[in-house]
Amino acid sequence: MVGTAACRAADGLLDGGELETLRKRERLLALAIAGSGTGIWDRNVATGEIQYSSGWKAMLGYADSEVSNRIEDSYLRLHPDDLEYVKATMQAHFDGKSDAYEVEHRIRCRDGSYKWICSRGKVVERDSSGRALRMVGTTTDITSLRTMSESLREAVSLITNLTNEVPGLVFQYRALPGGRSFFSYASAGIGEIYELTPAQVAADASCIEALIHPADLAAYRASFSASAAELSPWHLEYRVQLPMQGLRWRQGDARPQRLPDGSIVWHGFITDVTERKRIEAELQELATIDSLTGLPNRRHFMAQIEARLASLRGGRSAGTALMMCDLDHFKSINDRWGHGVGDSALRHFGNILRAHLRPGDMAGRLGGEEFGILLDGADMRGAIGVARRIQQRVAEYPLMEHEQRIDMTVSIGVALMSAADTNAEAPLSRSDLALYRAKKGGRNRIES
Ligand code: GH3
Ligand code: MG
Ligand code: MG
Repeated sequence: MVGTAACRAADGLLDGGELETLRKRERLLALAIAGSGTGIWDRNVATGEIQYSSGWKAMLGYADSEVSNRIEDSYLRLHPDDLEYVKATMQAHFDGKSDAYEVEHRIRCRDGSYKWICSRGKVVERDSSGRALRMVGTTTDITSLRTMSESLREAVSLITNLTNEVPGLVFQYRALPGGRSFFSYASAGIGEIYELTPAQVAADASCIEALIHPADLAAYRASFSASAAELSPWHLEYRVQLPMQGLRWRQGDARPQRLPDGSIVWHGFITDVTERKRIEAELQELATIDSLTGLPNRRHFMAQIEARLASLRGGRSAGTALMMCDLDHFKSINDRWGHGVGDSALRHFGNILRAHLRPGDMAGRLGGEEFGILLDGADMRGAIGVARRIQQRVAEYPLMEHEQRIDMTVSIGVALMSAADTNAEAPLSRSDLALYRAKKGGRNRIES
């Protein structure tokens, strides 16, 4: 660089020994600066001359003799897109509008490639009217820094884009030892999942609890407590009540980690499972409900008999009566009025049973025009009383179709279930036998 030791020697201020020491120090300083990847320049603003240190030239791949000392040539090395901005920043500093000059820009190396550099400088001499006369500064290679921050920016934007495109909410949720919890990250999907913004849960997540269905809130809290205590994965299906979407089902999955400060952080996601829950409920209904009458189907009814038997055996139930009802001469309804009216008659009888039974009792369609009834805690007298009332209702409320009255009667067989019954078929066949006797005895009868 431009030798200050030489200047002071010329002024006669230093003796030979001092001058040598000073030169050594200067060489060391120059080496240190070059080693740090920084070059130095010294510009005479008035003449348009600029001097560069060897380190400066080496940084761009030039030998000492290969760089001219004209400022116009220096502009030729600037990336065309950066030229205006660099000149304007420099001018602002000449005009005294900034304390120092500092820009980041691209500069062309000897081999034609560009490097990103940071150039800092300061006017060190001005004339009496304030015009800049001399300016010195440094140039640092920041190419790798720029590349690193560029790839960091790309990585962050990739993660953000990915998590925002995944259906549902991708999150990082943190619970502090004091009880406060918040979402240190929430993807854009929080708009769909909770009708909230990431900012609304960034400091405090308590607003989410207000959206959880009251019936699921205890389970929601307990699931996080258990996951935190055992550091076990969090999994929960729960309902939310949202201002716009109303009642929806959510499924959450996350893994917890304990941090050194005692807080727990979960990484996971929450998705909308409303449609799946609806289908599941539909399938469940299909599997257990008879679609014509809406009563439990044979399979479900048999399972209920098994359940009552189990509680009878365990002594948890006082006694249960099992009845079988079969509509009399049903075939003739079909024959006379058509199958559709036959269906209406089955629905009609199903409605009578439903309306008549007490909570805890249960009716099911066993098949065709055969129905079963379980009467909880009933003895034979009680069960026969219920059977009579069913017959009365059937007589009192005939089916009305096309303004025609269609009378029906029903035969009923009653049996008591016993703890000794080995399976559901046993009491069912006893009530079936009783029903057979009722038919044989002339129909519209009750037998036990
Ligand atoms: P009984 O008094 O001896 O019980 O005579 P029934 O005619 O009621 O009995 P049967 O077993 O001879 O006939 C039952 C009829 O029920 C025959 C069948 O077509 C009809 N059926 C069975 N399931 C349905 C149904 O889902 N809808 C309609 N409409 N008819 C059905
Ligand atoms: Mg019949
Ligand atoms: Mg029958």
